[in-house]
Amino acid sequence: MADADFDVLVLGAGSGGYACALRAAQLGLKVGLVEKDHLGGTCLHVGCIPTKALLHAAEIADNTRDSAEFGVRATLEGIDMAGVNAYKDGVVARLFKGLTGLIKGRGITVIEGAGRLTGPREVTVGETSYTGTHVVLASGSYARSLPGLDIDGERVITSEHALRLERVPASVVVREIPPGTMVVYPRGLDEPLAQALEDCG
Ligand SMILES: Cc1cc2nc3c(=O)[nH]c(=O)nc-3n(C[C@H](O)[C@H](O)[C@H](O)COP(=O)(O)OP(=O)(O)OC[C@H]3O[C@@H](n4cnc5c(N)ncnc54)[C@H](O)[C@@H]3O)c2cc1C
Repeated sequence: MADADFDVLVLGAGSGGYACALRAAQLGLKVGLVEKDHLGGTCLHVGCIPTKALLHAAEIADNTRDSAEFGVRATLEGIDMAGVNAYKDGVVARLFKGLTGLIKGRGITVIEGAGRLTGPREVTVGETSYTGTHVVLASGSYARSLPGLDIDGERVITSEHALRLERVPASVVVREIPPGTMVVYPRGLDEPLAQALEDCG
């Protein structure tokens, strides 16, 4: 396959990458967008959007529980997590479809696969190298833990695990560690977390 050349070549199609790609395309530039997973990145698939969908479902539960305050007679029978997750996944799927259409409609070339920066103006995906007059790295970030707190997906979980929970936790503690890092963990882990933070200085 022949190498492709772009005015702007963006590595990573999260909020940062796709916004850059859309704006560049709007300015009439030829744009390539490399993505190894799904267009939309963290925010759309495992960040802002699914969390807000869950919050919305929680708000409905709270309102139902407190409905008498508003003169409304209603009873909260329980939470059907399969239903809540289906609602959340539906919201994500709808927005993903919209974003995919928007990117396609702007004439942006989506290159599927993991890209590597192989030169100042070159990104290689598999066996193919693509060049860009401008290369934008928008590869995002990933969850990591603290020393002594291994992410096991059960007791110590990341936000991605939290978004896939099939049960409502009895309780959670949310703690923010400056600058702006947020940790969510089940109650009872206060001590080990405090120790881990101390170990980190
Ligand atoms: C649980 C949670 C809730 C959040 N809620 C909010 C909120 O309410 N409001 C808010 O403003 N922000 C929120 N955020 C933060 C927001 O999601 C991030 O700031 C935003 O997604 C960062 O965008 P990005 O483009 O830099 O990275 P990302 O969205 O992570 O995108 C990076 C993309 O690059 C791709 N990629 C990485 N490496 C490669 C490679 N080698 N080749 C090809 N592709 C690659 C990844 O697959 C990914 O799609 C939340 C985050 C989380 C985790």
